[in-house]
Amino acid sequence: MADLKLNKVAKVYEDGYKAVKNIDLDIKDKEFIVLVGPSGCGKSTTLRMIAGLESISEGEMYIGNQLVNNVSAKDRDIAMVFQSYALYPHMNVRDNMAFAMKMQGVSKEARYQRVNEVAKVLQLEELMDKKPGALSGGQRQRVALGRAMVRNPKVFLLDEPLSNLDAKLRVTMRSEIVNLHRELETTFIYVTHDQTEAMTMGTRIAVMSVGNVEQFDTPANLYYNPANIFVAEFIGSPQMNMITGRLWKQPESIEFHSGDLRLALPEAIVKRLTAEPVGQEVVLGIRPENINFAGELEGPNVVEIVTKNVEQVGSDTFVYYDFEGATRINSARFNPPRHVPIGETIRVELEMENIHLFDKASEQSILSPRDVDGLAQ
Ligand code: ADP
Repeated sequence: MADLKLNKVAKVYEDGYKAVKNIDLDIKDKEFIVLVGPSGCGKSTTLRMIAGLESISEGEMYIGNQLVNNVSAKDRDIAMVFQSYALYPHMNVRDNMAFAMKMQGVSKEARYQRVNEVAKVLQLEELMDKKPGALSGGQRQRVALGRAMVRNPKVFLLDEPLSNLDAKLRVTMRSEIVNLHRELETTFIYVTHDQTEAMTMGTRIAVMSVGNVEQFDTPANLYYNPANIFVAEFIGSPQMNMITGRLWKQPESIEFHSGDLRLALPEAIVKRLTAEPVGQEVVLGIRPENINFAGELEGPNVVEIVTKNVEQVGSDTFVYYDFEGATRINSARFNPPRHVPIGETIRVELEMENIHLFDKASEQSILSPRDVDGLAQ
């Protein structure tokens, strides 16, 4: 049993910089948690505090029911796999994996037996006599995982373990690590700056920005129910389109106005509104795949755009364009792909039932979460 709880945990470095600001994380036994966010947001610091490699400045951390703020790294039953692998170059794979047990005084026979068990799971048996220098990046990564596994830890911590691998190998190793998690039935906490990696691996994901946890949720909820603009823009590629405007109550409906644009909110969105529409500034978010090619179709949600750039990626067509009120270049994703000329006016339809709405000032969502059961993901 290894539930892990962070209660208002903060890290203030010696120079006075508060790298982690009073975060709460409640991690259940056997979860695969990902900490994701841009560089410098405090992911590694959080992971290192969990490992015991960095002291906790404020707040409490519990493993099970035990307060572990002052428990040393080696007594926490936690194993960490680093980005750099940190393998000993002069030792072969077998000895690299057995090293920690040797330090603990485990007999040679018991050490090698355990190493062999782990080598089997990770398919490293053929490589046991090789030195790290003779291994590929993916194999080194597996040895680093194996070295953590031999200790049978309650919690695995992985700090950007795939960032040194090329794109193709990263995808392979991603599913290997997910499979490993399934086999080991142990808690994994995984740090990455890559939102795709986070979304494909985590059972729950903590999205961080400058020392804060912005949202701690399932991949589906992060995608369909982002709590604020930061999460909405961080998750998804190309980014969610953002259009600034105001919400007004009309006799028959509630409308979003931005310049000449007038869009009525569908009933499903109106039901989820948590703010009165009194002309306040809001940001309407809509994902590229919720903007469809309209051709000659007429309709209340059909708008004209002038294409600036078009990317054909085989399965989809990405169209980039300026949009009045948009905070940056907008994009649309057409599936199936279609021929779209550059520099011409085309008509697109906005799927209004799939929009997001945020308060401009607080940047928080003003829609209650939708039910994500039954949605793809
Ligand atoms: P991430 O893993 O998200 O890239 P880190 O946790 O490594 O971020 O760092 C968070 C912030 O804390 C960064 O601004 C970084 O410069 C700062 N930081 C990290 N280590 C130290 C340190 N030892 N002393 C002072 N500041 C640090």
